[in-house]
Amino acid sequence: MRRRQFSRTMLGALSAVAIPAMGSSTEAVSNARGRRRAAPTSESDDALRVDGARINAQLAQLAAFGKNPEGGVSRTAYSDADLAGRTWLQGVFRDAGLTPRIDAAGNIIARVEGSEASLKPILIGSHIDSVPGGGNFDGDVGTLAAIEVARTLLAAKRALRHPLEVVCWQNEEGGLVGSRIMSGEFAASELESRANSGKTLREGITFIGGDVALLAEVKREAGSLAAYVELHIEQGGTLDAKKLDIGVVEGIVGHYEWAAEVKGMQNHAGTTAMNSRHDALLAASKFVQMVNRVALGLPGRQVATVGRIQAFPGAANVIPGRVTMSIDIRDLSAAVVRTIIERIEKEAKVIGDASGTTFTITPVNHHLPSMADPRIREIVRRSAQSLGLSTLTLPSGAGHDAQSASMLGPMGMIFIPSVGGISHAPQEFSKPADITNGGNVLLRTVLALDDWGAAGR
Ligand SMILES: [Zn+2]
Repeated sequence: MRRRQFSRTMLGALSAVAIPAMGSSTEAVSNARGRRRAAPTSESDDALRVDGARINAQLAQLAAFGKNPEGGVSRTAYSDADLAGRTWLQGVFRDAGLTPRIDAAGNIIARVEGSEASLKPILIGSHIDSVPGGGNFDGDVGTLAAIEVARTLLAAKRALRHPLEVVCWQNEEGGLVGSRIMSGEFAASELESRANSGKTLREGITFIGGDVALLAEVKREAGSLAAYVELHIEQGGTLDAKKLDIGVVEGIVGHYEWAAEVKGMQNHAGTTAMNSRHDALLAASKFVQMVNRVALGLPGRQVATVGRIQAFPGAANVIPGRVTMSIDIRDLSAAVVRTIIERIEKEAKVIGDASGTTFTITPVNHHLPSMADPRIREIVRRSAQSLGLSTLTLPSGAGHDAQSASMLGPMGMIFIPSVGGISHAPQEFSKPADITNGGNVLLRTVLALDDWGAAGR
């Protein structure tokens, strides 16, 4: 509940600002004061709040499933802990007045019908599976808050025009499996790949109550969602360092991986003079430095990493003749990534020429950036501000199910601070007040999106 200094009058003025209609620009919106619509600016909607204490209590309960000695959880997809946590979660859905079902992909999903049958659903949710040795907030916050938002609306008998669907995606950490089955990006061949729990995806989906024979039924069409919104912990340290309440996610950065190979001349470490070597590892070390320098040399938030390196033959008394490395580059702009890799290729040639080695760089994996819908970003920002919360627009460096959902309709994400920017570790922590704030921003965002439909979609 930090920085809530807005007076009641100011709050009213903020919430009276109209929400962008389809096709209207952000600038147009800021000039649209006075075009007040019904929900979510009505007095009763202004008073609606999630029960933050309940979300925080549920987070503590969920932490018991897969609890590890370090204070975090190892609740990897398809493990016994995952299954037990999912069973508990379905109880939370039911307590909220929702009727959860497990779709063929293994996602847990519930739907509340809206008052206008012709409208597409608004989908909210996240995941509860974790990485091995993970924390208690990644995914859990967004899942429990989404259920709480539905519960708050049901308890207040606040019917939406759109159907509202609440989802807990399965196996987010293992590659957005449940959400990619829904978006149609999942290949059947992936069923044989093995998850961290040791089960294949085929075995895992069956284990959690899905049906691999019916995966096609889960797939939805592009344009089938009115909107998808996911609340998540930032997993980086920007909001915490700047002491800001809410992150308005600009998009999820593209993730590009290349494999680099350096070829030199394998030779005797004792008999080969220093000036007649073609040391592939020495050239590779210059390459690692250069990748860092290239990424730092451009304005912006792009990141580039060499995270894996192997020298061959890998013996203490042999000059390495060959080295393999990974290159990982991420940014919201595919053009920036292209610029970086082109510079890396050019400079690798220079290093190679000077050291008598050759560099080969080949693409491995390319995941394009997913941009959040600018209108939803604006709605999230205004929702936060109407609650007296400070905001920052920022990219997500981590991948999320929202990427898959963005294939089906306009997508938005809400971040809350991660203390110290720590995530995927037992020390992962978000403050109870920030979790409550996130739940309330999600609630207001859903109400505003429901109204947005009224603007003539
Ligand atoms: Zn997550």
